[in-house]
Amino acid sequence: MTKKVELKDISNLCKRRGFIFQDSEIYGGIGSVWDYGPLGVELKKNVKDEWWKRMVYERNDTEGLDAAILMNPETWKASGHVASFADLLVDCKGCKKRFRTDKLEGDKCPECGGELTEPRSFNLMFKTQVGSVEGKTEDVYLRPETAQGIFVNFNNILNTTRRKLPFGVAQTGKAFRNEITTGNFTFRSREFEQMEMEFFVKPGEDEKWYEYWLKERMDWYFSLGIRKENLRLREHAKDELAHYAKRCHDIEFMFPMGWSELEGIANRTDYDLKKHSEISGEHLVYFDSATNERYTPYVIEPSGGIDRAVLAFLTDAYRTETVRDRERVYLALDYRLSPIKVAVLPLLKKKPEIVEMCHKIREGFKGRYRVVYDDTASIGRLYRRQDEIGTPFCVTVMWIRWKTVKQL
Ligand code: ATP
Repeated sequence: MTKKVELKDISNLCKRRGFIFQDSEIYGGIGSVWDYGPLGVELKKNVKDEWWKRMVYERNDTEGLDAAILMNPETWKASGHVASFADLLVDCKGCKKRFRTDKLEGDKCPECGGELTEPRSFNLMFKTQVGSVEGKTEDVYLRPETAQGIFVNFNNILNTTRRKLPFGVAQTGKAFRNEITTGNFTFRSREFEQMEMEFFVKPGEDEKWYEYWLKERMDWYFSLGIRKENLRLREHAKDELAHYAKRCHDIEFMFPMGWSELEGIANRTDYDLKKHSEISGEHLVYFDSATNERYTPYVIEPSGGIDRAVLAFLTDAYRTETVRDRERVYLALDYRLSPIKVAVLPLLKKKPEIVEMCHKIREGFKGRYRVVYDDTASIGRLYRRQDEIGTPFCVTVMWIRWKTVKQL
């Protein structure tokens, strides 16, 4: 029986086994910024690869893109981020803690019951400067979402690929938000990665495609092992919808702190393409050769967080068992996500022929999978270590005739 997983169980495992470290830890760290260690980088890469496979390689109606983090600042005026990408915040006059008004219940401080200040607006975009001449620099932003890189490249992609509607553009990459209310490990980071698809459709067909993407995205998480009871869809109420959205659902996961957003799926209508057309003067429109019409496509956007997906996969896979009165942790990860696919373990590391055979087996997987050799503990402990990080296959070399090794 696995007990309820706490966030600290996950963060302890991540630190202990090298999945995730606090960024610049030796200097005391920096709030809500994280580094992925030797196992974390593999897990995160596997999540991204599985997403890319499903969104690009397994389809015939999508393309990929890798747009830059820095963009002309006009982008963020057009998208509405300069004017309204802000959280409303209140401070507690007693304990001085800060809260987002949309996450508060009641009008008192949830920590100490103290009185709260009036709400203030706080823009979440990080600003920096471009240019090397003093006094001639220009303010630019670190992108707070990857989506806009797709919209501003709409004509480039259309002209180079000659796609017909419906078609999508997939992108993964870093995004930055100066989050105020942080905590909950990597769930709300200031630097994080997104996996976003902008799926362009003919106006009028948007509702059908919206329903399609709700199901398709839920299926992706289930196909990688997330248990049914840990995932749900929640539709945004009208007053909760972003300024560009006609409809929006959150895919919520049962994180240790409760149901929280893992991915958002929005019908962004033609808002972004129209705004960029208006402000840039470049017409981001589609010519429908079947009807001889020119129009602005609608867009359905499934937008997920890679760090939140990693946290969800770890949480879902985290199990404990008691063996001979001792509690052990193991990760029931889908093999496609496992950081290490095969561990080759010698029963006796003092026998050179066993060790040599182990290395031959490891070499056999070279270039295809992450495979490790480990002889730094007894065989039982070596197995437990691999169980704890979700390795699907362990190979133990127990005994071998020297002659056989020579023949290999
Ligand atoms: P929240 O309400 O939790 O702040 P959001 O609605 O602002 O999230 P979106 O703008 O819809 O988030 O971003 C799309 C996805 O990017 C989210 O579903 C989430 O997985 C991820 N994401 C957003 N902000 C962060 C963050 N600070 N840290 C990690 N992932 C994030």
